[in-house]
Amino acid sequence: MAGNWKMHPPDRQAAVDLARAVAGATTGARAEVVVCPPAIWLVEVAAALRGTSVGVGAQTMHAEESGAFTGEISPLMLVGVAGYVILGHSERRRYAGETDEAVAAKVASAVAHRLVPIAAIGESLEERGQGATEQVIERQLRAAISGLDRLAGSGLVVAYEPVWAIGTGDAASAADVQAAAGLIRALLREADPDAADTVRILYGGSVEPGMTKAYFAQPDVDGALVGGASLDPAGFAGIVQAAG
Ligand code: PEP
Repeated sequence: MAGNWKMHPPDRQAAVDLARAVAGATTGARAEVVVCPPAIWLVEVAAALRGTSVGVGAQTMHAEESGAFTGEISPLMLVGVAGYVILGHSERRRYAGETDEAVAAKVASAVAHRLVPIAAIGESLEERGQGATEQVIERQLRAAISGLDRLAGSGLVVAYEPVWAIGTGDAASAADVQAAAGLIRALLREADPDAADTVRILYGGSVEPGMTKAYFAQPDVDGALVGGASLDPAGFAGIVQAAG
């Protein structure tokens, strides 16, 4: 269960307070819980969460270890601070021009640096309207894992996030999410039959407490990537508890 804080909250103290509140509200949860704050708050959020069961993730990273990449953060910089990293989020694809090729390089780099990649894939409203949902999922997933020699031991997490459901209040139905997650599982099985079941598949897109049990009842849905609702510790904890 991962919370993507996006570009919130606006100051250091609020980030630390939110992290502590999430840790308090999710104490004893059976699910693995991760928060992904803005890069500038990573170190302090990690310090605030030390000794708790809540992990820390970055929202993106560059594939290279260092170099002339203004504004970027490298996997080496994340090691020791964050254990996870969201890669290929649709907002990065849309606003930062992140391509399938870049996501492939980043996923491989994350695994090489023992960071857990949360690879986000999903179709836009237009693609859905064109009946291209399956093709988009297949293209983006195949690309995301193309730089991995094997899935086993990679720790890979795949987040199915239909773009039309992110931040819109228009969450996908449990049946649609299972259809996508089932396709993702089948593609993973093709790539590595033995390891496909070890990959966690998350759903993301306007997830709110109260509607999550239906997602988690689906056979191929293992958790959620939560944006807006992850900024409310009690609400996020409710989503986490629904995972069982
Ligand atoms: C996200 O940013 O990954 C996301 C799913 O956002 P929201 O829950 O706000 O739709």
